[in-house]
Amino acid sequence: MTYDRMKAKRIAGEHCRFCGDKSSPLVKTRCCNLWICCDTAFVSIRGGGYCQFQQEYYSICHFHYNEGHQGAWQQCEECRDFLGEEQFKLESKDPINTPLF
Ligand SMILES: [Zn+2]
Ligand SMILES: [Zn+2]
Ligand SMILES: [Zn+2]
Repeated sequence: MTYDRMKAKRIAGEHCRFCGDKSSPLVKTRCCNLWICCDTAFVSIRGGGYCQFQQEYYSICHFHYNEGHQGAWQQCEECRDFLGEEQFKLESKDPINTPLF
């Protein structure tokens, strides 16, 4: 298992927790330790459209981890303050924050 997207491989019996993709290389997210699909290209344009890029750049989950906040982002006051109550609620329901599979 790897956190390095360039070393990611397809894993038999596993799938991306965010979109359910079974046929793409998988990497573990640093923020939530879940399998996520990714681009393995050295130069990746916007992550090749895979979930990993979305998590890293657009999720509360990764932001929370990156900022070094404590506990779960779902209960995080700092994230809630940063985004505002409405946006926080909205984004909490986004598949990139909430694993579906
Ligand atoms: Zn995916
Ligand atoms: Zn995450
Ligand atoms: Zn936070």
